[in-house]
Amino acid sequence: MKITEIKQAVIGHNIVLRIVTDKGIDGYSEIENTKESYIGAVVPYFAGLVKGLDPTDVSYVMAAMKRAGAFKPWGAVVSAIEMACWDIAGKEAGVPVYKLLGGKVRNKVRVYNGSFKTEKMKETKAPDGTILGGQYEKMDSPEAVGESMLALSERPEGFTICKMAFGWHARNFWKQFGLDEYAYNTYPPMNGSERTNRGSMLTERGFNALVEYVDRLKGVIGDKIGLALDCGPGFCAADALRFAKAVEPYHLLWLEDMIAGDYTPHTMAHVYRDITMQTSTPIHTGEQIYLRENYRELIEGQCVNVVGPDPADCGGIAELKWIAEYADLHGIHMAPHGTFDGIFGMAALTQVCATMPQNYIAYEYPAGNPDWWYDIVEGLPDNFLRDGHVEVWDRPGIGVEFNIPKAEKYLRPEDKDFFR
Ligand SMILES: [Mg+2]
Repeated sequence: MKITEIKQAVIGHNIVLRIVTDKGIDGYSEIENTKESYIGAVVPYFAGLVKGLDPTDVSYVMAAMKRAGAFKPWGAVVSAIEMACWDIAGKEAGVPVYKLLGGKVRNKVRVYNGSFKTEKMKETKAPDGTILGGQYEKMDSPEAVGESMLALSERPEGFTICKMAFGWHARNFWKQFGLDEYAYNTYPPMNGSERTNRGSMLTERGFNALVEYVDRLKGVIGDKIGLALDCGPGFCAADALRFAKAVEPYHLLWLEDMIAGDYTPHTMAHVYRDITMQTSTPIHTGEQIYLRENYRELIEGQCVNVVGPDPADCGGIAELKWIAEYADLHGIHMAPHGTFDGIFGMAALTQVCATMPQNYIAYEYPAGNPDWWYDIVEGLPDNFLRDGHVEVWDRPGIGVEFNIPKAEKYLRPEDKDFFR
């Protein structure tokens, strides 16, 4: 079998990739949260590196293209091609992808909800059309956030873990406390807008506002929901440690990306290590990191307690599996990122997470966006998301297919040849 063509299309809020082969078997995946101007240039570039190769030799395809990828967003197309190759390999073999990764060790995979914190995600809906959360158009009071988390946990989907944008990751966080001067400097300091999401050392009042927020939020949710905070990056090291220690009594699931993270093309592993070694609050990073090699220092140095690679950025499904196994060898937990990965990404995450060792916690659940996405795909079992878990289903490949006659109606004029 040979790869003959690679195409992309924007469908709703998701960018989809299709690998075409000479055998008539197609592979599909989604490209994480990248702009059209990016994929328009990058997809043809990578297609040129892998055309003519056998997509079922996934490792060989990866070897041919991975040198040209990098931290987010430059590994996204590499990752999407890798995942679509697995889809083809599974279809060719007539088995779900998890069988090709060594087989599943769990029949249902725990997921967490991190999707209800931005305006964009306000449009994200459950299969029945109900908005999941959506209260985070602006920063709400900790009581309101806590109530929405409880409501989310009581829905049939029953999320047991919620993650919220916090501190530097939530643009207007300190405003609700009426704090103009919450840090001694902000970065970038020149634009005068509210886009500042980095900082220097916090003022004592700014710092106390963070701790107060956690105290009030936990006062509402108690121990009913696992709470993770997506924190930045933006903290200085001293505040990160001080904060991690201050919230130790609240039993948080993790603090994410305090030092480096989804906006940085580096890991700052040495700084993370200093923090992780001195607190019992679990420290987490990883969604921007590309390839296992770039996890090595974080994992071998035990610089964090939890890693969160996104299969749509780290280099794909096999890369994520490898990182999970290596993290497990070092006593480090695994909680993959995924919020912008769409339904095909959700299917890919389910395949690989079903095979992960005991360090697995949960993956970040990506929803179809908008909700008509659930009408244009086939393969999802009824009620596949229940009680905080996605059921592992059996279907060759990644587990989801387009209903092409239905999906075609949503193609933009410039993408009209996507399925042809
Ligand atoms: Mg994050």
